[in-house]
Amino acid sequence: VPTFALVDGNSFYCACERAFDPRLKGVPIVVLSNNDGCVVSRSSEAKALGIKPGEPWHHVTQRLGRHAAEWRSSNYALYGDMSRRMFEVLAGFSPDVEPYSIDEMFLGLDGLPGDHLDRGRAIRATVLSVAKIPTCVGIGPTKTIAKLANKAAKADQAFAGVCDLSAPAARAVLYRVWPIGEVWGIGPASTAKLKALGVRTVADFIDAPPAQMREALTVVGGRIHAELRGVSCLALTTLAPQRKGMAVTRTFARPIAAWSDMSEAVAAHAFRVGEKLRQHGLVAGALTVFMHTNLHAPGPHYANQLTVPIEATRNGLALVTIALRSARRIWREGYRMNKSGVMVMDLSRSDEQRDLLPSGDPVRSARLMAAVDSLAARYGGQVLRPAAAGVNHAGLPVRERLSPRYTTDLNDIVRARGAAVTAEAIRNI
Ligand SMILES: [Mg+2]
Repeated sequence: VPTFALVDGNSFYCACERAFDPRLKGVPIVVLSNNDGCVVSRSSEAKALGIKPGEPWHHVTQRLGRHAAEWRSSNYALYGDMSRRMFEVLAGFSPDVEPYSIDEMFLGLDGLPGDHLDRGRAIRATVLSVAKIPTCVGIGPTKTIAKLANKAAKADQAFAGVCDLSAPAARAVLYRVWPIGEVWGIGPASTAKLKALGVRTVADFIDAPPAQMREALTVVGGRIHAELRGVSCLALTTLAPQRKGMAVTRTFARPIAAWSDMSEAVAAHAFRVGEKLRQHGLVAGALTVFMHTNLHAPGPHYANQLTVPIEATRNGLALVTIALRSARRIWREGYRMNKSGVMVMDLSRSDEQRDLLPSGDPVRSARLMAAVDSLAARYGGQVLRPAAAGVNHAGLPVRERLSPRYTTDLNDIVRARGAAVTAEAIRNI
């Protein structure tokens, strides 16, 4: 049985600010989004004052007065570096560390000796003392259960920061009381659908017939159903994106030792992140690139990541440019990298005032991306991709000499037409 731990920073951005300014200890503090607009992180003291996530800062000061809480502008370069430190500490506990967002990392605990709960406590204490980040740790046989355990650890101080749901009996207790909407990937629409079927708690959900749940919530819902029953089946990349950040990562089929291969992979990740942002109507204000060698394998190891604040955008080509610049800075020759990823943070609705792209041409940019998305919707997949992402980029199954299925697959025929339509669409911009 696999075991996963999810380590998640508490009020992460606030904790990063506190790590370097002890005067902030114990006082209410918030971190504001780009342009100091809205609250993106709240310390527990700020939460106790009733400050809401995403609340415009000027509303808070009107309501509570200017000095109700200390505030800081967001400093994504700092948060990214603190995230890197957290990763380094965690890599000492497991060769299997997968960043899911800037402050959330999954650890594979399979085959490690000793008690998971003890290990969870040691992880939490070490991250706090070395990286100066308070965290909660959730443990379970699937990522969905580890995530739920983490939520439980955050919600109830009785857990002292570590909740282990490895044992079915422990899960059964929690499942009876937790609403299904608290589960990762079950959004408000799914929650409403399930409520109509009489499913309110996690226990109701897992007791329902799998086929019925799959029908109600599609394939992803079916996987969540299996995961909650302890059957691990969620690949990290298929997990629901969350408002505070989203990621596209890939473990390569073969390790990468050439910059040309890495740059293609990073460009492809960044372009895909742009698609996800547009699907969700969001823009990003910060971007992280990470890469590392296989920490299980012998040989020299390297892991690094870089986070930069960016002008709010959802333009795939702009994201590719920024991601490649960052990747170049952390790339080191002489290592065999087996994983890379691009994450974006500081997300906000694209219709908010921030979507101005002042240094680009916003109308042109929006129309180009609309053309990219409509082609993808019509012809499937990435008909139009940036040249930087390469034609057969590393990590895809290697099929160098595969000829197009000229006669049997409509997709291969429409590709040429797709390109023509693209060119037409771009000319008209
Ligand atoms: Mg967190």
